[in-house]
Amino acid sequence: MKKLADIGLIGLAVMGENLVLNMESKGYTVAVYNRTVKKVDKFIEGRGAGKNFIGAHSIEELVASLERPRKVMLLVKAGQPVDDFIEKVMPYLEEGDIIIDGGNSHFPDTMRRTKYVESKGFLYIGTGVSGGEEGALKGPSMMPGGSPDAWPHVKDIFQSIAAKVEDGQPCCDWVGENGAGHFVKMVHNGIEYGDMQIITEAYHLMKNLLGMSNPEMHEVFKKWNGEELDSYLIEITRDILGYKDENGEETVDFILDTAGQKGTGKWTGISALDLGIPLTLIGESVFARCLSAQKKLRVEASKVINGPTPKFNGDKEQFLDDLKMALYGSKIISYAQGYNLMMEAAKEYNWNLNYGGIALMWRGGCIIRSIFLKDIKEAFEKNPELPNLLLDPFFKEKVESAQDGWRRVCATALTNGMPVPALTAALTYFDGFRTERLPANLLQAQRDYFGAHTYERVDKPRGEFFHTNWTGRG
Ligand code: NAP
Repeated sequence: MKKLADIGLIGLAVMGENLVLNMESKGYTVAVYNRTVKKVDKFIEGRGAGKNFIGAHSIEELVASLERPRKVMLLVKAGQPVDDFIEKVMPYLEEGDIIIDGGNSHFPDTMRRTKYVESKGFLYIGTGVSGGEEGALKGPSMMPGGSPDAWPHVKDIFQSIAAKVEDGQPCCDWVGENGAGHFVKMVHNGIEYGDMQIITEAYHLMKNLLGMSNPEMHEVFKKWNGEELDSYLIEITRDILGYKDENGEETVDFILDTAGQKGTGKWTGISALDLGIPLTLIGESVFARCLSAQKKLRVEASKVINGPTPKFNGDKEQFLDDLKMALYGSKIISYAQGYNLMMEAAKEYNWNLNYGGIALMWRGGCIIRSIFLKDIKEAFEKNPELPNLLLDPFFKEKVESAQDGWRRVCATALTNGMPVPALTAALTYFDGFRTERLPANLLQAQRDYFGAHTYERVDKPRGEFFHTNWTGRG
């Protein structure tokens, strides 16, 4: 075993344990420490037995066991524990040493921490790590940002443990300064919310409108996973719908319909509102989880408020094809909106984001991985200045050809009183985006009427503002 470790890790929970096992399997020696110190020995004697790990029983011991520049990675509960560990680690570091936060930190915290740690003479990286437990062990998608000078020191470790796509490229590259990595991870999670929501809306229609059984739906998702929707989330939905417990019960039917959330979708929505970007599909996905959580109220409402009883008389196979197109079209919108948010954030926070590179980072190892991301990467490679994914010739053609089926699905769902907030929000955004003249002229008139907010005119140059005395009163 080497005398000094290549990297140190604080936080031997689900993510930390698996990530260090991944690093060790790639030939790195890793020093490990945990707040509850007995977990260090448990790990060294358990999953880490016989491997190149150094168990440290204090932060001082951890730092002393590292090669320079020292790299200390935190994989602890996001929030205050990260700040606490930064304070505890810094007294033992020397100029140029690197602190890495691999947790789900909110990007403004990472911006603040980068500045603070740099002010003390050290370097900082905030990296998104996606793929959960299995990803951490076998190859996650990693989105690092922070102090650019830190990247060359961690690049080899990060890229060797990250997931690889077919051509061997790692799903990890430098994202940008300060909070850029955690911002991109946040948008990734928002897109994850959106992808999950549109799939659940499709499931709801198949089940309650078409009357399909779980095994029948399992077959549909299996088929879709071999086509343009091929993705991790379609794949696990297929498996969930095909799953039976030891008593032969279909588990999905026994799960309470109230969705949980940890807040990254909400952060994405808040960021979109702050930056003025219409991120409607992700926004609706967060709200759909909120509505699902109002179970008691919904049960009461279901007993007293009437609506149509879902009834389907059409061609079921055609509807399933339409549904696939609704998912595909909505997915394009979701990424178009998510990329728009990243573009606006890049302007606001002075990040130089590589949009094709981001698609590559998401292609493997993470929850939103799908073959679709290959097309996004190509779109941004062809035109790095692409202002909206819908203006890329490939996606324009795809979304145009998806729209007939997508419209039929939304119309049928609405007529039958079935909630499809994300599928319709995406379609409405698509229609708004391609509309030359929206009714905002009337809105501006209203604002001017009650608040003298003024308006610009179509027959005058932009930047000239007018006010009308709408009532004629003085
Ligand atoms: P976690 O449950 O979020 O955190 C557990 C670790 O944090 C333990 O080492 C724990 O130490 C330490 N900790 C908890 N509260 C602390 C406090 N107040 N002060 C100091 N240390 C504290 O672990 P995780 O699930 O492995 O996740 C780690 C990070 O990765 C989180 O930011 C999480 O959001 C992110 N993440 C998780 C997943 C996932 O699938 N789990 C996926 C992607 C990202 P003790 O052992 O002493 O309690």
